[in-house]
Amino acid sequence: MSKHDHQRRHESDGFTCIHCKLQVPGIAWGTKHRNHCPACLYSRHVDETPGDRANPCKAPMAPIALEVRGDDHNSSRTGLGTGEWAIIHRCTACHTLKTNRIAGDDSERALLALALRPLANPAFPLDGFR
Ligand SMILES: [Zn+2]
Ligand SMILES: [Zn+2]
Repeated sequence: MSKHDHQRRHESDGFTCIHCKLQVPGIAWGTKHRNHCPACLYSRHVDETPGDRANPCKAPMAPIALEVRGDDHNSSRTGLGTGEWAIIHRCTACHTLKTNRIAGDDSERALLALALRPLANPAFPLDGFR
């Protein structure tokens, strides 16, 4: 790795989406390190730990699923937690899985499409539910 990191300091100011080429501003409500595109939800494999940009892979990471996270402090009462959504990304090169909190301005349509994907493409016949 190079020691010239003068360019990396500004990466949190924004980036160009690796998938749909959208110019993405770095500041987003609800997250400190925006790492995925709010329009198509694609990410890029750049972090070892969130925000460090230390991973040399740099391949696109495709959104493959949603996770609903519980909160340990609140979940003991309801068993359901706070219901915070996170996106599971899979690297298209090395197949690493990462979980990223959604940002406040992520496309709700893209998030719902991701959530509904297993239902639109069931692994078993749905005839019995009609
Ligand atoms: Zn995009
Ligand atoms: Zn990778």
